Amino acid sequence: MKPLDTTGELPAVAEVIRVVDVTPRMRRVTFGGPGAALYASDPTRVPNIKISLPDPETGELDLPYFDHEGVVFRSPRQRELVRTYTVRRMDPDAGEFDIDFVRHGDGGLASAWAERARPGSTLGALGGGGVVAAESDWYLLVGDETALPAIGRMVEALPASARGRAIVEIADDGERQELHTDSALEITWLSRNGAPAGSTDLLKDAVAAVDVPTEGDPRVFAWVGAEARVAVWMRRHLRETKGLDRKQTLVIGYWRRGDDETTYGRTADHDRVDDEYDVELYDELQDDDHDHDHDH
Ligand SMILES: Cc1cc2nc3c(=O)[nH]c(=O)nc-3n(C[C@H](O)[C@H](O)[C@H](O)COP(=O)(O)OP(=O)(O)OC[C@H]3O[C@@H](n4cnc5c(N)ncnc54)[C@H](O)[C@@H]3O)c2cc1C
Repeated sequence: MKPLDTTGELPAVAEVIRVVDVTPRMRRVTFGGPGAALYASDPTRVPNIKISLPDPETGELDLPYFDHEGVVFRSPRQRELVRTYTVRRMDPDAGEFDIDFVRHGDGGLASAWAERARPGSTLGALGGGGVVAAESDWYLLVGDETALPAIGRMVEALPASARGRAIVEIADDGERQELHTDSALEITWLSRNGAPAGSTDLLKDAVAAVDVPTEGDPRVFAWVGAEARVAVWMRRHLRETKGLDRKQTLVIGYWRRGDDETTYGRTADHDRVDDEYDVELYDELQDDDHDHDHDH
């Protein structure tokens, strides 16, 4: 991910200006102020953002600083207070951006912060970037609610010519969102109906039943953001059963059931925090034969 292009102490404090619940379990927080304006001034800082949260033990926002290499954490604790989210909307003119937080309870640092976020609350917007789906004719976009902000962004940006499927797992039918798209993408909502997040086979079963078109040799791309074990299954299924190659897939473990993000990042193949500070372009991805997967 790309850090803010500044050195020294960060002017990276983003301030909450609005909190709206899109659905009962999805909270949209709009950030403004100088830190948000600086962040939103660079369009390469999407799709993902690294946020630094106040320490719940002290209530203090203790931000890392930047040098020419990027973000420098002064302590392991500073690193533990970082989470990864999607920039759901970025408005450079207004100097604002939105993050949609899944309200999964007080057991999560960011989730607990979002529960209490009010106008004037602050966090650090450390950096942003990441990889996006390659331009294609037919898309398969798959994810649970943590990936819904990313899927929403993608679906809304697709041209009228785009076809395919979006398959989204949600807690219950009250979590469906109105997604506007010019494309002919078919959107399928799968409700867990009370089952815990990351515990069902809903996404796997739905993807297993998808027929990837071959007629006319369309350019096909599959994007997945999901719980780590689901992501591992998807990666294998898309490549071995659906026959898609690395350049046609981007599968990202978004979270791992039972582990906080720091632990997940530490025990997955990549250090997710460091790794994602590099802006990776799709071309580079192809050259490197590296696909930003977090579990292999
Ligand atoms: C590139 C990327 C983009 C992401 N974008 C978004 C986004 O826009 N919105 C969003 O809400 N999430 C998003 N996520 C997922 C988010 O980073 C994780 O869910 C993260 O763990 C949440 O941090 P936390 O502090 O709330 O919980 P943590 O402190 O990291 O975890 C505490 C506990 O909660 C569990 N947990 C974590 N997330 C969930 C969940 N959603 N449901 C149930 N249990 C959970 C963990 O397994 C752990 O047991 C994204 C992840 C990635 C990699």
